[in-house]
Parts: sequence; C-alpha cells; structure tokens
Amino acid sequence: MATINIDLTPEEYHVPEQRRKALMRKAGLSADAAGTARIVHRTLDCRKRNIVYHCVVEVGPADSSATPSGGNSPLPITPTKQVIIVGAGPAGLFAALRALELGIKPVIVERGKPVEQRKYDIAALTREKRVNPDSNWCFGEGGAGTYSDGKLYTRSTKRGDVQAVLRTFVAHGADPDILLDTHAHIGTDRLSGIIADIRRTIVAHGGEYHFNSRVTDLLVEAGRVQGVIVESGTSAPSTLTADAVILATGHSARDIYHLFRRHGWLLEAKPFALGVRVEHPQELINEIQYHGRGYSQYLPPAAYSLTTQAGGHGVFSFCMCPGGVIVPAATADRQQVVNGMSNSRRNSPYANSGIAVTVGLDDLPPAARPDADPFALLDFQMQVEQQMFHAGGDAVNAPAQRLVDFLQRRPSSRLNKSGYMGDVVSAPLHELLPPFVVDSLTQGFRDFDRKMHGFITADATLLAVESRTSSPVRIPRDKTTLQHPQLSGLYPCGEGAGYAGGIVSSALDGIRCLDAFHDSLL
Ligand SMILES: Cc1cc2nc3c(=O)[nH]c(=O)nc-3n(C[C@H](O)[C@H](O)[C@H](O)COP(=O)(O)OP(=O)(O)OC[C@H]3O[C@@H](n4cnc5c(N)ncnc54)[C@H](O)[C@@H]3O)c2cc1C
Repeated sequence: MATINIDLTPEEYHVPEQRRKALMRKAGLSADAAGTARIVHRTLDCRKRNIVYHCVVEVGPADSSATPSGGNSPLPITPTKQVIIVGAGPAGLFAALRALELGIKPVIVERGKPVEQRKYDIAALTREKRVNPDSNWCFGEGGAGTYSDGKLYTRSTKRGDVQAVLRTFVAHGADPDILLDTHAHIGTDRLSGIIADIRRTIVAHGGEYHFNSRVTDLLVEAGRVQGVIVESGTSAPSTLTADAVILATGHSARDIYHLFRRHGWLLEAKPFALGVRVEHPQELINEIQYHGRGYSQYLPPAAYSLTTQAGGHGVFSFCMCPGGVIVPAATADRQQVVNGMSNSRRNSPYANSGIAVTVGLDDLPPAARPDADPFALLDFQMQVEQQMFHAGGDAVNAPAQRLVDFLQRRPSSRLNKSGYMGDVVSAPLHELLPPFVVDSLTQGFRDFDRKMHGFITADATLLAVESRTSSPVRIPRDKTTLQHPQLSGLYPCGEGAGYAGGIVSSALDGIRCLDAFHDSLL
C-alpha cells in the first residue's frame, strides 16, 4: 500500500463521482483498474485563491481499502480494583473507558444529570434565565464539551494517541470523516447521543455511574485518599471508597478549589485568558476567507484562527464556531459568561469566536496578589464575571457592543442582530473590561483586520465575557506519578486541574491519569 499526496478542488472533493475519477486519474490508475485510492487525511487550504483540499491518499489493491477499526475494546472487569472518577466530562469518561480496558472498575460521580435530562435545565437557563448550579452548559454528563462545537483538534499531540480518542468517538456514533480531517468537529446535535452511547459501553462492561451526586470532600487517612464524600439532593451525605480518585471536575468547579483551600492542600495560580466573543455574519467570513467567493455548496462555512501580540499580552481567537451560536455559560447565580457552539451542519448565519487576552499574576495590582495567592486570578475572573452580570441588568443577559464602537470608545446606540441564546444589552465594554484587556483587544482587532481584511466592520458585535478559556488555578501533581504531592491516590486531571484545554487534550489526560494509577499497582 503506497501513500501519495493529491490535491482536489472543492468540487472534485465533494461530488462522489468526480472525487472517484479525480483520485484514480491523479493516482495514475485507469478508471477500470483493479486498484483503489482511499483518502486517509485531508486539509482544506484556503490561503490562496486557488482553494484546494490537500489529501493524503493510500493507493493499493482493491480489497485493501479497509475501513478504520472501532475504538476501545473494554475487557470484562475483574473488580478487585476500583477507581472513583469525579466528573463525567471528556477527562472522566476517557479515564473510565481506559479503566475498563485495564480491568479496573470505574465509579463515575457526577454532580449533574444524564445528558438526556440535562438539556431541560439548559433550555430553562435560556428561557427563564435561571442557572442550576449542578446542571448547566458546563455541568452534567459529558461535561463542558457536550454542548459545544465539538472541535476535535489539539496542539498536544505529544500527550497521547489523538487518533485513538477520535476512533472512540466514531465507535460511539461520530461521523468516520472526523478521522480524516485536520480540523475535525462533531457538532452539539450529535455529541449528546455519543455521550449517552459511551455511558452504555461503560455500564455494559461493569462501570458504575452516580448522577446528581456532588463531591464535597475527600476521605483522607494518613495522607492517602481513600474515597469521597458525596451530597445528593436533600439526602444525608454518603461516602464512596476506592483505591484511587481521579479528580476531573473541570475549570468551573470553584467549590473544589475552595475545598482545597479549606484543608490547606496545595494549589497554584495559573495564567489564563479573558476577553470577549466576537460575532460576524458567516457570509462575511466566507467572503474574506474564500477570497470573495462567498457561499459555495462545495466549501464548508469558513473558519479562522488568529493570534498576535499586543502590549506584552498574547491575543488570540479561541474556540471559533463557524455557523454557530453564542451561549450563556455561567455556572452559578450572578455570573455572566459566554461561550460558543454549533451544530454538525454549522448552519446558523453567524460566525463567532472568543478573542482572549492572556492574563497572569503580573497583570494584577500587587495588593490583589499577596504572596502569589493561588486564588488571585480566580478572584479576578469572578469579579469581571460579576461586573458583567451587573452590566447585563442583573440578569443572564450578554452585555454587548458593536466592534466599531468598542474601537471608537463609544457606547452602541443600536446593536446588530445576534445569535446569542438569550438577550443582549448594549453596554460600554471599553469601560467595563479591565484596561489592559481593552488595550490588548484594541491592538489585537486592528492586527486581525490586517490579516483578514474586513474583520473590523459595523456588522461585528462583541459579547462579554469570555472568561472560561482555561483554569486560573492549577492543582499540582507529581510529574511521574501524577498524584497530588500531599495526597497519594489523588490524580488531579483534565482542564480543571490545569493539565488540558479542550475536549481531546482532556480526554488524553484522563487516559494518562488512569495509566499512572495502573502503573502504581504494578
Ligand atoms: C459551550 C462550550 C463550547 C466548547 N467548545 C469546545 C470545542 O468545540 N472543542 C473543544 O475542544 N473544547 C470545547 N470546549 C471546552 C471543552 O468542553 C473542555 O475543555 C472540556 O470539556 C474539559 O474537559 P474536562 O473533562 O477536563 O472537564 P469538564 O468537561 O468541565 O467536565 C467536568 C465535569 O465534572 C463535573 N463536576 C464538577 N464538580 C463536581 C463535583 N464537585 N462533584 C461531581 N462532579 C463534578 C461537572 O458537572 C462536569 O460534568 C467548550 C466548552 C464550552 C463550555
């Protein structure tokens, strides 16, 4: 089986008969040859006017076009060893699947509801502007990634087998095309079914779920974690014990950080990023990225990825959602947070993206960071979210401003139509956001407009605040054993512990933590 590179036009790529003919011709095979050419990887390249799909193609005998095999193959467990996994986000779920592969029983403890029920709380949040602190856009089965764009790319390929994670998604119902794409995405409409299917696999192979179960403390004896204390609704707290605990509670579980503070367990402040979500008409982004071609049935809604330096800060686009909507992602009362998601078809008329500015301890006034307080950046994040809640009229409304008005430092007398799942309220973000964020965003937008001419337009709107880009706190762990330095048997894991950012890297970290626990048994 030989591998060759072939470029296809978007039309050749998308029309099956044209694709087959073009592949055979460019692979040097005659149409009636017994050979076959199969695309194993593709990247859409729209940097030049001549837009092409760069394809990696396997060429070989006709019967060798094997379809990719499924994901994990869990073994029947011999439950002599048991691991508690706190949090059913990507980190927790992939740790559980890995546990089953290694014959260890996973017990998943999740504060939120099964994905089928979680959607009602999310609908209530949009409709009634009421945040359920255990069931929202971030909390509940599947974690923060369930209602997302489902982008599946990561920069952390060194951290594990990305393809294995993708194969697991495919084995549970994702489109096999995600195995080919440089920039694969699933879409929120598909993700919830996939998460439910992963649950069925875990339960069928002997894993256990506890929903509506919030972990409020750890059981610790002589420096070793023995289990967790769980609160479920109004019933009295109960305990669950195990050989190890994987703590994969995500970056919004502030109660977990406070638990560490209460006990005096080590935590560290961690740089994160904060900014706004910018929304454009998708058609405009298509025009810019596709060199004036606008809509084409052979091209997907266009995406972008931008990064620059401004005044000593990194400014970057984050979680760009072509054809997406903006969602209210707060996890408690009196917070205003935005994030983005899209369906598999990415068919809303809007393109949105977080535009975030890096924030470190040095950005805070000295009085706000005594002795590198691990909570200094978390407090800063919370203050901005509360201020934005106030600016939204003390309700879950998004404070918004047209991009041109932000740059001109004037309030917007009218706002553009928005795909925000809630109400938007005109607010002077140039006055409300921290000055260094305003200055960095201003320079950043001007630079982005040089790279993507037309990015600054009267049709673009900023919504606040994009503050949950990553965790502002790290739960430390030993580099080799991956256990907390003071708490043996505790594996801080995923985005909330500060070791991942995004669905795939969180999944990889879940697998790593479970492998580290398994190694400790040998
Ligand atoms: C709207 C939105 C869109 C996103 N889009 C993308 C995207 O397209 N691509 C991408 O790669 N990333 C995206 N992300 C980010 C991605 O979802 C996260 O990086 C990823 O989910 C982190 O995984 P995790 O398992 O570490 O934590 P989480 O997914 O946050 O999961 C943590 C879980 O722990 C549970 N939990 C918290 N506290 C407790 C407790 N005390 N007891 C029991 N359970 C608890 C929570 O309910 C939650 O289910 C998006 C996030 C959001 C909010």
